[in-house]
Order: sequence, then structure tokens, then C-alpha cells
Amino acid sequence: MPPRKKTDSKKKTPLKEKPKKKMIVKTASKKETSKKAKTVQPKKESKKDSKKAVKLPQLLRGMRDLLPKDEPIWKKMYHVAEEISDAYNYGRIQTPVLEEATLFVKSIGKGTDVVEKEMYVFENKEGSKIALRPEMTASCVRAFMSHGMHVQPQPVKLWYLGPMYRHDRPQAGRYRQFFQYGGEVLGEKNAVIDAELVCMAYNFVRDMGINAQVKINSIGSLEDRAQYIIELVGYLRSKRSYLSEESKKRITKNPLRILDSKDEGDRMVIEDAPQIIDWLSEDSKSYFMSVLEYLDEAEIPYVLEPTLVRGLDYYTDTVFEIFMENSEVSGGNLALGGGGRYDGLVELLGGPKTPGCGFSIGLDRVANIVSAMQQEVGETFLDTKKVFFAHLGDQARRRMLKIIEDLRREGIKVYHNLAKPSLKSQMEIAAKYAVGYTFILGHKEVQDGTIIIRDMDSGTQEIIDQKKIGKAMQRILEKKA
Ligand code: AMP
Repeated sequence: MPPRKKTDSKKKTPLKEKPKKKMIVKTASKKETSKKAKTVQPKKESKKDSKKAVKLPQLLRGMRDLLPKDEPIWKKMYHVAEEISDAYNYGRIQTPVLEEATLFVKSIGKGTDVVEKEMYVFENKEGSKIALRPEMTASCVRAFMSHGMHVQPQPVKLWYLGPMYRHDRPQAGRYRQFFQYGGEVLGEKNAVIDAELVCMAYNFVRDMGINAQVKINSIGSLEDRAQYIIELVGYLRSKRSYLSEESKKRITKNPLRILDSKDEGDRMVIEDAPQIIDWLSEDSKSYFMSVLEYLDEAEIPYVLEPTLVRGLDYYTDTVFEIFMENSEVSGGNLALGGGGRYDGLVELLGGPKTPGCGFSIGLDRVANIVSAMQQEVGETFLDTKKVFFAHLGDQARRRMLKIIEDLRREGIKVYHNLAKPSLKSQMEIAAKYAVGYTFILGHKEVQDGTIIIRDMDSGTQEIIDQKKIGKAMQRILEKKA
């Protein structure tokens, strides 16, 4: 759906702070005061007054409400996700937000931030440990086994979109409930699958109007990595005094995670650290080369990032992250998504040996960037299934009322504001609703029994017979968004 210019030119003027309204307190004249003083008795405090003011319920820290004004971007993200997943032939999976906590502890890994610090865990009434899902890969793998998908034709391709929960430190772009769109391919290992998942993630971000860049690396097989970790720990121990306190703790717990550190001192140490790419077996290297060749073929721009390892324990071979290319927009420096291969995960969770690979995109971050970009240029997404009915003049208003009522009886919902006489202000309202079309009825149209249909994206207009309004509406509603 193409973005369009907002018609509301006032939007661009910098917001001035409104002058605070002066409170006007009516004071009684001296005469009145003395009169009243004799008659007015001090009011007894009523039971109601003496009650403490009721504290309004608060939104939980790190959570946020998505309001109707946010809907166009979220709707668009849903459509793009569905379209891309359909095009690559993925089936949608929806799993519960609650799972056994051990599912994530086993898969993501004990020493990871997600499990150690961020996971919402509680005991249910039977005393079992339950977690709010911090990500979806483990849930997909659990469902893959629960439903015997390993005996279906392989590979199984799944996509998902839903809320995840992490008790992260609230800050820009980090929420405790956030949404992810993602894809998983289970049951087959082939470099073209890794490349396909990178393409999907990249295409999603690009289709949302963001110039994306892929950062990619390979962390090899578990065996390659075991060798590399010995080398890395030796190096980090020799530089221990230069590392941050957090990284010092991680040397034994999760040394790979240090490579992700944003601390300046840590970054200097990391620059000279041994690189995992040098520890890959020939098999892992050639697998990675094939992934890159497929990406070249698909013309996906990427950069090699030797320190990219991703935080979760279950990754093997390909790992990647997606960023905004020129990140001047606020939040643009944060990863928009990431993913990788996880060949040992199904087995680790008790299933048969099954390769897997996936990606996930953080929708809140994508929405924040799209919204910041739209505000800058005064654009918004149109909802091509929304229609506004505008009128000009009293006669048109009466006729319009009848048209709208007839449509409602047929179950067709339209937007309008019959109370507003000016066409200009009605068109402004239509723009605020971000409708795809406006049906306009003026004096001339009332006389000749026609109505104008204005395409709000292109600005083109078409005149149709009023008898064909129902059909035109059906056509719009059935059109693919
Ligand atoms: P991860 O698997 O942790 O790399 O997460 C994948 C994507 O989800 C990240 O690139 C972010 O875009 C998004 N994400 C992760 N954690 C959060 C969070 N706390 N708030 C908002 N988005 C998040």
C-alpha cells in the first residue's frame, strides 16, 4: 500500500506549549463575605470526602498500549507479514503465550540474559513453573514435536506473529511486552533455506519502507564452537583487567556474549579477539559460502560481521541480524530482527535429530521507525478498505443519510460526519481516518443521480451512478489490501 501525503498542513508547525488557562476564582465582595460569615456553618466532612482519593490503575512499567492511531502501521505490518509468508509458502502457527519454563531454560540456555534475568516465571496453582514466552522458536519446536510434524513431508515451514515477554530494562525500543513476526523451517538443512529466511526478514523490513542492512556471520557447528570458545576464554582471561564487570562475570558463564558488548573498554578488547570464522571446519565454511552465494544471487545486501554470535545458546552455523541502513531516525541503531540456524535444538528438547533455521523481527521497533519517518515527511498509510462519505449542501446531506442507512442495512460500514457543512473539513477528517476512498455528493450529483469516488492515494476521481454505490463498495472491500 503506497504511503500518501497528509493534507493537514497545520501538522508541520512546531507545537507551541499552550498557555496555561488562568484559574478564575470568583471572590465575594466584602459585604457578601460578612453576611455569609454569619449564616454559613462550617461544612461537616462527609464520609465520601474523608475517603482517600482512589488511585488510578497504572499501566505496568515497560508495557504499552497500542491505540487506534497506531493501527494503520500495525495493520500494514500484519498484511506484509502475511503476504511474504504466503509467497514463500509458510503456514501460520499460534502457540500459547504460556509454556513450561523448562522449555526456554533448556533451549535458550541457563547462562543467557533472557533466561537468567528477563524471563517472567511464576508457579501455577499446581506448583509447576510456568513462563511467559520470551521468544517463539522454542514454542515452535515444542509444537513441531507435540503434533508429530516430523512425520509430515519435510521441511515444515511455519510463520508466527504475536506478543513476547521479557523483563528487560525499559528504555527506548525495549519493552516488556513486544511483538515479533518470524519464520521457522524445520526438517531439512540446505544453505538455500538459510538464505530464504534472510530474504524474508530483509523483504519484510524493506516492504515497510525501511532501507535494511543484513549483518551475517557463521558460528559453525557445536564442535567448531567448542574449540573456538577455549581459544576465546584464554584470550579474554589475558585481558581481564580491561573488561567491564559484567563481561568479567561472563568469561566463564557465557564468553560468546562478551562479543556483543557495547561497553567501550570491552569493544577495544574484542577488536583483537580471535575470530570464530578462523575456527570453522571446512564443511561449515563451505556451507556459509553457499549461503552468501544465494544471497548474492537474490541481490540481498549484507555485510560480514565477525563478532556477531547472537545471545542464545541454540544457534549453529548461520547467524544474522537486520538493521536500518542509515540510522539517523531515533531507534534506528537497534537491531530490527535476527535469526539463525539451530540444528541441535529439536534433539536437545527430546525430539528426533532435526535441523532448523529461523528469523524474528521486532515489530515494535519497526513501527517506531516507520512512525518517526512518516512524521518527518507528513505521510501515513492508507487503509484501502476504509471509505468516507462526504457531502456538500443540505440536499446532499439528506440524500447521503439515506445512502449511508441503506449501506448499513446491508452490513457495510462507512465513515462520515454529516454534522460538518464544509467539504474541506470533511476531507480533513477523511485524511485523519486514513481512508483509501472518499465518496463525494455535491449539489450537481444530487440533481443527476451520480456520486464522485475519489482515490485518496492517487487523487484520481471517477463518477458513478448512485444505484451502483453498493457494488462499488463491495468491489473496494473485496480488493486485496
Ligand atoms: P532477539 O531474538 O532477542 O534478537 O530478538 C529479535 C528481535 O526482537 C530484536 O532484533 C528486536 O527487534 C526485538 N526485540 C527483542 N527484545 C525486545 C524488547 N525488549 N523490546 C522490543 N523489541 C525487542
